[in-house]
Amino acid sequence: MLMRAENSKFARTINLYKAILCIFAFSAYSAETVTLHNSDTQVTYKNLSSLSVSHQTKVKTWLNFGINANKRVLGLPRQAHYYFDLNPRYFATEPVPWARIHRGVFDTVELHFYRYASLTSLKRDWTLYHELSHLYHPLFDYKDFWLAEGLATYLQNRVMLHNQLISRDEFIHRISAGLQRGKLNTKQNKGQLNSVSENMWQRNAYQRVYWTGVAFFIEAESQLKAQDKPDLVSLIRQYQMCCRENEQYASDQQAKQFLQSLDRLSRSGIFSSLYRRYQTREDFPVISKSQIASLITPFTPKSQLQ
Ligand SMILES: [Zn+2]
Repeated sequence: MLMRAENSKFARTINLYKAILCIFAFSAYSAETVTLHNSDTQVTYKNLSSLSVSHQTKVKTWLNFGINANKRVLGLPRQAHYYFDLNPRYFATEPVPWARIHRGVFDTVELHFYRYASLTSLKRDWTLYHELSHLYHPLFDYKDFWLAEGLATYLQNRVMLHNQLISRDEFIHRISAGLQRGKLNTKQNKGQLNSVSENMWQRNAYQRVYWTGVAFFIEAESQLKAQDKPDLVSLIRQYQMCCRENEQYASDQQAKQFLQSLDRLSRSGIFSSLYRRYQTREDFPVISKSQIASLITPFTPKSQLQ
């Protein structure tokens, strides 16, 4: 059922990033601003008043839970002020039918959710963790969307595992099943990865694009571990503090610069060299069961981040 839900979400995101540069004026937020109890973040809601008081409480609890779940694993994103555009629905077949990030002066999470969904079902839905994970990387060019979606999909599963929203077995199952879907979808969407990424919406190539990206980061994790380097989550945390603020490159260079930063932080060439191998590849990567299993084994590198 979850897999069906994931598929339908992919299908419904056909125009997902077409409006990606939509810029919000702050004044458009007639909503209240709430400071979370950690006091290092602020949350601004748009359309909160369209919900009943009890539903407002539920939604705020859900979003605070999600923010803290991501923060627990990935630290604070560069933009520590969260903006949510709330779109409650009267009818839906799942708790969060779809969502997207608007990049602009403020990166904003647009959420479409079932207003009568229980708090538990909202917390168990992966969408919020996925969208929040996008806040930890800059906007990439369309040809590099496989990298953005792969990173967010991989991190969403790490966040859910770490916060005990899914078990270790479920983590393995979700990663394995996703890679399998990506492999199948590659047969219907032939061509170079960067070209398929650019046309993901028209070609319905979501599974290939998303899961080739996940494979990229699994391969990166394997190489980091083999070279006794910090893992990806540690690097992403560090990236927010050292580099993100300074990276304002042309959109077609953002992905390369992002990966070069991860290379600098890990004192390796792992990410850039993997990128060169992946960006034009036509096949789906082969990821072994042991590579997937090793993602959940404790990882304590001898070398630490500087
Ligand atoms: Zn995404």
